[in-house]
Amino acid sequence: MPTVCLFTRDLRVHDQPVLHAAAEQGGGEVVPLFVVDAAIEGFRVPNRARFLAESLADLDAGLRDAGARLVVRSGDVAEEVRALADQVDATAVHMAGDVSAYAGRRRRALEEALGDRELVVHDAVVTVVSPGTITPASGDHFKVFTPYHRKWADLETREPLGPPKKLSLPTGLEAGRVPSANDLADGDTAPGLLPGGEPAARERLDDWLDRIDEYADGQDLPARDGTSRLSPYLHFGCLSPTEIARRAGTAREAAAPFVRQLAWRDFHHQTLAAVPRAATHDYRDRGDRWRRDDDEFAAWAQARTGVPIVDAGMRQLHHEGWMHNRLRLLTGSFLTKSLYLDWRLGARHFLDHLVDGDVANNQMNWQWVAGTGTDTRPNRVLNPITQAKRYDPDGEFVRRWVPELAELEGTRIHEPWKHRGSHDLDYPEPVVDLDEAGSAFRSARGA
Ligand SMILES: Cc1cc2nc3c(=O)[nH]c(=O)nc-3n(C[C@H](O)[C@H](O)[C@H](O)COP(=O)(O)OP(=O)(O)OC[C@H]3O[C@@H](n4cnc5c(N)ncnc54)[C@H](O)[C@@H]3O)c2cc1C
Repeated sequence: MPTVCLFTRDLRVHDQPVLHAAAEQGGGEVVPLFVVDAAIEGFRVPNRARFLAESLADLDAGLRDAGARLVVRSGDVAEEVRALADQVDATAVHMAGDVSAYAGRRRRALEEALGDRELVVHDAVVTVVSPGTITPASGDHFKVFTPYHRKWADLETREPLGPPKKLSLPTGLEAGRVPSANDLADGDTAPGLLPGGEPAARERLDDWLDRIDEYADGQDLPARDGTSRLSPYLHFGCLSPTEIARRAGTAREAAAPFVRQLAWRDFHHQTLAAVPRAATHDYRDRGDRWRRDDDEFAAWAQARTGVPIVDAGMRQLHHEGWMHNRLRLLTGSFLTKSLYLDWRLGARHFLDHLVDGDVANNQMNWQWVAGTGTDTRPNRVLNPITQAKRYDPDGEFVRRWVPELAELEGTRIHEPWKHRGSHDLDYPEPVVDLDEAGSAFRSARGA
């Protein structure tokens, strides 16, 4: 009797425990299903819609190689899965566990809709380690990264699985059409967007493993291409985080700082799983009374704050649908601590553009930056000029994204307001005095 493998954000055939288990239970007969879920807003964000469409097309191709194909439905996920399971008389539906409040509601709706049919939810598909697998001596989740990481690093991970060899679809099933980006969302995509899909992901991973030694020195220098850029492939599950961790960890001793980032990813997922309302509410209430200033928010969002490193980061976001981590920290800190505007505004803007936009990673990192999350130094303010001089020492990154300042040599580019006398610059004055802003923030926090 067939089973259903419900794909969510695990769009791959390599190291795919959900597909593997579904196929095994069905004796090879399985319906690989993706539902364009009307409740998921992220499907309508153009950058992620394009990446998703490309990933689904590649998933379909990978399944065809094994003798099946992707079956696509759209609408209410629980209703669609129930209808399909009834149609093929499936013994069970398999899917990956996930962490958001929505994922919890979806699971409950599926359990209810399926009635007597079994719903098998698989751990450690979306993350290397599932929430709840490691816990502190007291409490249900880790609130600080370092002790979490210590335990995480000690865990044995499973051996990655190969792609399926032989699958078959029940006969007489209407497959439905794999959606295009335009079917999913209206609007332009970022011109420098990475291609979606499992083959592109695997190629990038192979290439990255050859360069991984550069990570420790290069990860904080945005002008270098010194990070993996695997985040969108991880978000959509075109790659298995377990496979990445295993291959990186066994490839090189020097891979430890990179593998540690995968632990950060799991850490934020376990935090959100334990406190789903942290997607919208302060994880730690610091008594903030965020300012409201639509003009300042617009200056930030439109990359015209007059602080070059901040504007450069925002322009990278808009051009690539991706931003370097150091810039995410700086632009986030600038919004929340220099302008003292609500982190939720920034998180929303990021989710509207990031191709890797992810409720756990985005919201929990925004909270970390705003000092309402798990940062153990919540009141520190990153000075964007000091940071720019340290991490973009020749001004190369800013020169790439803010060409109107290109004539300012070296680190002069980081403080254009000091050089107006000698240059005719078509660039705004800073929206805020950085020193005053830092003091105002600290006093608002009572620090
Ligand atoms: C304000 C803010 C918002 C962010 N929003 C997102 C988001 O929506 N989606 C997202 O995937 N990451 C987010 N991050 C985390 C991080 O910036 C990105 O994961 C990273 O820049 C992706 O680039 P990379 O793949 O080259 O990373 P690498 O440095 O090569 O790291 C490898 C992988 O580890 C994970 N990782 C790295 N850093 C972090 C981190 N701080 N937290 C969690 N996971 C991490 C990512 O999956 C990444 O692909 C955010 C960070 C900040 C400060």
